[in-house]
Amino acid sequence: MVVSSSNTVTSSSRPDSSLSRCACLASTSLLSCYFRLLNLPMVAINVCELDVGEDESVLIHIRLNFAGTPVAPFLTDAAKLIDSAKTFIFDCDGVIWKGDKLINGVPETLDMLRSMGKKLVFVTNNSTKSRKEYGKKFESLGLDVTEEEIFASSFAAAAYLKSINFPSNKKVYVVGEAGIQLELKQAGISYIGGPEDGDKKIDLAPGRFMEHDQDVGAVVVGFDRNINYYKLQYATLCVRENPGCLFIATNCDAVTHLTDAQEWAGGGAMVGAIKGSTKKEPLVVGKPSTFMMDYLASEFKISKSEICMVGDRLDTDILFGQNGGCKTLLVLSGVTTLETLQSPDNSIQPDAYTNQISDLLSAKKVASA
Ligand SMILES: [Mg+2]
Repeated sequence: MVVSSSNTVTSSSRPDSSLSRCACLASTSLLSCYFRLLNLPMVAINVCELDVGEDESVLIHIRLNFAGTPVAPFLTDAAKLIDSAKTFIFDCDGVIWKGDKLINGVPETLDMLRSMGKKLVFVTNNSTKSRKEYGKKFESLGLDVTEEEIFASSFAAAAYLKSINFPSNKKVYVVGEAGIQLELKQAGISYIGGPEDGDKKIDLAPGRFMEHDQDVGAVVVGFDRNINYYKLQYATLCVRENPGCLFIATNCDAVTHLTDAQEWAGGGAMVGAIKGSTKKEPLVVGKPSTFMMDYLASEFKISKSEICMVGDRLDTDILFGQNGGCKTLLVLSGVTTLETLQSPDNSIQPDAYTNQISDLLSAKKVASA
C-alpha cells in the first residue's frame, strides 16, 4: 500500500473481484488504524477506481480528504436525486450558458424536469441586468423561461428594500449598472446615481466640498464597469453621514467572466472599495447569502429541504444551497474543475457532482428502460 503526497492512496491485489473487495477493506482498515495512531483528522475514505495493471495486479484508488470534509461523489443515480427534490434552482452562467452559448443538452433537461412536475428557478449574482432583460436572454437562446422564474441579484436588492418597507420619502444611491435601476423602478423605489454618474469627475481644487443628498437611505453596490472616484466619494458620504443609511451589496464575487479568455475583477471589487472607505460591512442579498433562498421559499411556498441547488461555483452556488439547507449538485461545465473540487484545500463539498446538467437525462433513460 502506498500513501502518496496527494489525496490518493493506491493498493494492489490479484484481479479477482472478491480479493479486490478484501484488499479495499484491508486498505481502508489499515489506513484508519494508521491515521488513528498519528491522531490525524482523516474523515473520508472513498474507493473510487479499480485499474488492472500489466502484471494483472489490481490498483485500488482510495480517495481521501485531509481538509476534514468528505469528498463529494460523482452523481450516479440521477433518478434518485430528481425524486428527492420538488424544486431545482439553477445558476445561469456555467450551468445554462457560457457567455452567449447554450450548454449542450440544456433544453431537453429543463423540458424533462418540467414534464416531471418540477419547479424550476434561475438565480444569478449578475446585477447588470433586470429580470426582464434576463428573460430576453433566455428567449434568445430558445429557452422557454418566464420572468417570474428568474432571480437576479439586482431584483434581490429591490426585493429586500421592499421587504423592509423602505420609506417612500427616501431614495437609493446606486453604484452599479442599469439592472439595479430597472428593478428599483419596478419596485417603485426612487434612486439616483448608477450609469448617469459614470462620466463624472471631481476637480480637487483647494477647498472643494462635495454635497450629497441627505435623503439617500440606502446605497446599493453591484458590479460596475464605470466605477469612478465620484461614485466612491458619493456613496461613502451617504453611508457615513446619513443617519441609518443602509449599505447593500448585490454580491461580493471576487471575479466574473466578462470574456472567456480570463477572469475579471467582480462585484466584490466595488463593494470592497466602499467597505474600505466606510469601515462598514455590507448586507449581501445575492449568493451565498440566504436572503434570496428565504425569499424564494416564502414566495413559492416551497420547503428548502426539497430544493436542489445546481451551480458551477463552490463559494457562491454550493454555499448558497448549503446555507439554505438544500441539496446541492456541482456541475463541472463552468468555473470549477475536478481538481479544485478534490483539492485538500477545498472544504466546500456539494452532495454530488456531475459534468453538466444534461447528465440528469439519464433518469429519463432509466424510467423508460
Ligand atoms: Mg455560474
